[in-house]
Amino acid sequence: MAGSFVAGFSEAPSAGGASRVPYGEVTIDKPRIPDDGRLEMAQDDDKVGKIGPTGRPMPLFPVPEQLTSHGPAWVLAMCNQKGGVGKTTSTINLGAALAEYGRRVLLVDFDPQGALSVGLGINPNQFELTVHDLLLGGGDTHIDDVIIETQVEGLDLLPSNIDLSAGEVLLVSEVGREHSLTRTLKPVLDEYDVILVDCQPSLGLLTVNALTAADAVIIPLECEYFALRGVALLLQTIDKVRDRLNSRLDLAGILATMYDARTLHAREVLARVVERFPDEVFHTVINRTVRFPETTVAGEPITTYAPTSVGAAGYRRLARELITRRETPPVVG
Ligand code: ADP
Ligand code: MG
Repeated sequence: MAGSFVAGFSEAPSAGGASRVPYGEVTIDKPRIPDDGRLEMAQDDDKVGKIGPTGRPMPLFPVPEQLTSHGPAWVLAMCNQKGGVGKTTSTINLGAALAEYGRRVLLVDFDPQGALSVGLGINPNQFELTVHDLLLGGGDTHIDDVIIETQVEGLDLLPSNIDLSAGEVLLVSEVGREHSLTRTLKPVLDEYDVILVDCQPSLGLLTVNALTAADAVIIPLECEYFALRGVALLLQTIDKVRDRLNSRLDLAGILATMYDARTLHAREVLARVVERFPDEVFHTVINRTVRFPETTVAGEPITTYAPTSVGAAGYRRLARELITRRETPPVVG
């Protein structure tokens, strides 16, 4: 198995002529010059049918058809109670990639730290109105007055800031407290194709609200030892929410992040994750690259900051895989 990971890694970069340059401890890929304006396909064509990082042959995830109308939104919660696993990074970059494919996307910052706003170059403390006002505003605030446009066309943001932390405490005593986000999003469901909710690193009431509002969950997992620790608890929580609050809740997939194919350690962790969740793990794996921390400083998605990078190609592939899976779900069991 390990051999195929190595093979998958060593084939991919050389096949289309991209060269690798050492960058401190990590390696970044030199962008290739697009010759037909369809770079993301060009980067992928050479991977289709070959053994991918998850040890399975990489299917073709075609560029999705343009939409002629929008909505109703598919609501996805980006969820893992562990911090630093790539939830916020994945929310921003998957959202931006889906927007590139013509989807109308709303990102919901559901973490009081406001990292999602920061990652999009927006100071979370500048807002008079945030998601907090919608959750607890008793209907006085309209969601249209809180949503802001980002610099990426088709990508909007429902911001939050530290007020949400107090909001969670107040929410505990509300009637129907688990359904506050569902109620909040309802007026805009028909305006968006995808709504991504960036959850906080806990399984508290805010996360339960996100799971109650969601159609499906994406679980980002960092390719590090102990990655699987806590996943059982998260899956139990998802089951409980499905039983008690939201019967349509589905697992969209598990996303391996921060993968460094050169280390045996990362390859072993990924192999274990695939062994445990063979059908759930996305074929798309997000590589570890310094480009992602750089995008946070730059305040924009990788798809605009480094459009020809491997990281941008990764999130575009994830967007296509997600759309393909939704349209033709895998047959399980
Ligand atoms: P979470 O939202 O789960 O806490 P973040 O998305 O904020 O996690 O990521 C944590 C840190 O790891 C951030 O500094 C981010 O820039 C960095 N990071 C995220 N994804 C990658 C990646 N694929 N490669 C390298 N660094 C990454
Ligand atoms: Mg985060």
